[in-house]
Amino acid sequence: MILILLGPPGAGKGTQAQALMVARGLVQLSTGDMLRKAVAAKSELGLGARAAMDAGDLVSDDIVISIIAERIENKDCERGFILDGFPRTVAQAEALDLMLEQKGSQLDHVIEIRVDEEELVKRIAGRFSCAKCNENYHDTFKRPAKDGVCDVCGGTEFTRRSDDRAETVRARLEAYRNQTAPLLPYYRAKGTLRSVDGMNSIEAVTEEILEVLAT
Ligand code: AMP
Repeated sequence: MILILLGPPGAGKGTQAQALMVARGLVQLSTGDMLRKAVAAKSELGLGARAAMDAGDLVSDDIVISIIAERIENKDCERGFILDGFPRTVAQAEALDLMLEQKGSQLDHVIEIRVDEEELVKRIAGRFSCAKCNENYHDTFKRPAKDGVCDVCGGTEFTRRSDDRAETVRARLEAYRNQTAPLLPYYRAKGTLRSVDGMNSIEAVTEEILEVLAT
């Protein structure tokens, strides 16, 4: 199954992708995570992406398209995958269509996670993740069962994203409105788009997504 999770920053794409990974055994492909790793490793790719990421702008289509084109050839993608944060422009969506066509596969579902803008800012401000396994947490909505210890891997180091600062978040929301929201009519026209209410609890949103996947 090939699935896209669409939605603004803070909608819960990463959290839901992790839940679906567990529920359905699909790999999560997060271009944001891949780019952050490249930046941390100071690779050529990371150096090329860093300025745009720090400013809350999108990285160039060529860079992210080539990352995904290479990644989906991995063996772990054979059973399907969840795209989290890709595509983010119509050009990326068109490139994805072509890649899948060449592989003889197709997109099964595009799920938009809808959340009010005010709520997004609150959510982004409190989020952090395990430095070891990447599990997502939130100061208010999803604390580890034992403070300071990751529920999944027992790690004790956590990180906060540098682009989760208020000024950068505004730029990221604007990039979503201007460059990514046009994907909604793009996928609606193809008949693959479904929306879920991202204002509900994490578990309720996962349930709603699983219901969509079952249809
Ligand atoms: P995310 O973790 O998905 O919020 O992505 C963090 C940042 O990585 C974004 O603000 C962009 O700068 C960059 N990025 C991630 N995915 C893409 C993409 N598909 N196209 C362009 N830039 C991206």
